[in-house]
Amino acid sequence: MNTADRLKIPRQKMIEQDPKERIKNFREVPFGYTPELAMQEAQRCLACKKAVCIGGCPVDVDIPEFIKLIAEGNFVAAAKVLKKTNSLPAICGRVCPQEDQCEKVCTLAKKYEPVAIGNLERFAADYEREHGVVEIPEIAPPTGKKVAIVGSGPAGLTLAGDLIKLGHKVTIFEALHKTGGVLVYGIPEFRLPKTIVQSEVDYLSKLGVEIKTSFVIGMLWTVDDLFKEGYHAIFIGTGAGLPNFMNIPGENLNGIYSSNEYLTRSNLMKAYIFPEYDTPIFSGKNVAVLGGGNTAMDSVRTSLRLGAKNAYIVYRRSRNEMPARKDEIHHAEQEGVEFHFLTTPIKYYGNNDGWVTSMECLKMELGEPDASGRRRPVPKEGSNFIMEVDMVVVAIGNSSNPLIPQTTPGLEANKWGNIIADPETGRTSRQGVWAGGDIVTGGATVILAAGAGKKAAKDIHQYLQTL
Ligand SMILES: Cc1cc2nc3c(=O)[nH]c(=O)nc-3n(C[C@H](O)[C@H](O)[C@H](O)COP(=O)(O)OP(=O)(O)OC[C@H]3O[C@@H](n4cnc5c(N)ncnc54)[C@H](O)[C@@H]3O)c2cc1C
Ligand code: SF4
Repeated sequence: MNTADRLKIPRQKMIEQDPKERIKNFREVPFGYTPELAMQEAQRCLACKKAVCIGGCPVDVDIPEFIKLIAEGNFVAAAKVLKKTNSLPAICGRVCPQEDQCEKVCTLAKKYEPVAIGNLERFAADYEREHGVVEIPEIAPPTGKKVAIVGSGPAGLTLAGDLIKLGHKVTIFEALHKTGGVLVYGIPEFRLPKTIVQSEVDYLSKLGVEIKTSFVIGMLWTVDDLFKEGYHAIFIGTGAGLPNFMNIPGENLNGIYSSNEYLTRSNLMKAYIFPEYDTPIFSGKNVAVLGGGNTAMDSVRTSLRLGAKNAYIVYRRSRNEMPARKDEIHHAEQEGVEFHFLTTPIKYYGNNDGWVTSMECLKMELGEPDASGRRRPVPKEGSNFIMEVDMVVVAIGNSSNPLIPQTTPGLEANKWGNIIADPETGRTSRQGVWAGGDIVTGGATVILAAGAGKKAAKDIHQYLQTL
């Protein structure tokens, strides 16, 4: 097919559940491409000599190569190309912010819609899994070296996969009773089905990775205890799971959740299928979710599915500054979420039983850019107004869990509690201890955490060979 013909093909859409239907269930929203749609979309790629899309991918996936294989109908080979540099393509195809990465710089994006790289990634990985053709790779002979991984999010899982193949004995210690980090406790089923995360975990178990759940390092054992137990290298991938609050009057009223608690109850503890699972969750009718990131979108869309009549996003900046994925903002709008931009709460009011009934808000305007490069919201004096709410979810970001830095002498952290680690290797100030993912960067993305796991795996392997 020549370039002119390729340019005539429109970007192929995934078929999705109808918004009116989907707010009544927790099933995944887009159904994914059929093989025909995937091959049609893959034909749009121009196989550029200078494939700028690769530069836009944090883990350098060979994008034109995997897309070419899809166009040829060679879906399993396409999945293999993806897996050379990204261990979690079925997950990344669903949750990566492609519009700010590979698709943003795609040559087509200058004049047309970019190639749907994320949708194609999801298709190839799903095809491989659903057709049971995931190959178990050859494992190198045992090296006799033991590696402990603390935390089972994308950073820890990726590192585990890379090191087990090299012949090292790998054990993951996870505080929760389920493996997967934010992928299981944060991101809801309607965006990332848990069976997909579980199949990645099962794959690691098949390779020989040992997983100890309900095991908090820093309480049961410390990092130093792990060395005493004979581990030669330790990777800390404990994420950023400590919720931030606004610290405004009334924040302790009933009905005000942190997004962490709200999503953990719903996802991990399966409150959304109460009473089949016995975790209760409060279902407000007028729900305000504070924040503009993915966590806020996940919380507000969860509240709709749990019965909210009115679900609001209350965000202190404007739509342009929202950090959430564009797709999720679009999905939230389709589902009827009301957006209140340039608005911030300053006080909550409650009834005699201690339940929140309303919040006082201020309107904001945008001033000069702050350290993050986004324009700083400045309150408009006298703009106070009352919003009636019976439930609020605070989704304004998370900080690092301080447990490991506090219980590991000599492990340096910065003023926000993030562990200081070399960005290229993950090495920390403690010999034999590496760190990566959100615990180092603060709340970031799945692919950056997975990439940090990959870099650290390479360095740990080299280190283990010197022992
Ligand atoms: C609701 C939500 C939605 C998101 N949506 C997206 C999205 O759409 N796209 C995207 O790219 N990113 C998204 N993110 C961000 C992304 O999920 C994170 O950047 C990523 O998961 C970080 O991976 P990690 O491996 O560093 O840690 P995590 O995924 O946070 O995993 C850390 C794990 O360590 C465990 N742990 C913590 N302390 C200990 C301890 N002391 N001992 C043992 N275990 C411990 C925790 O229980 C957890 O399971 C979202 C985040 C949230 C909260
Ligand atoms: S930049 Fe876009 S068109 Fe060019 S190779 Fe990459 S995906 Fe294909």
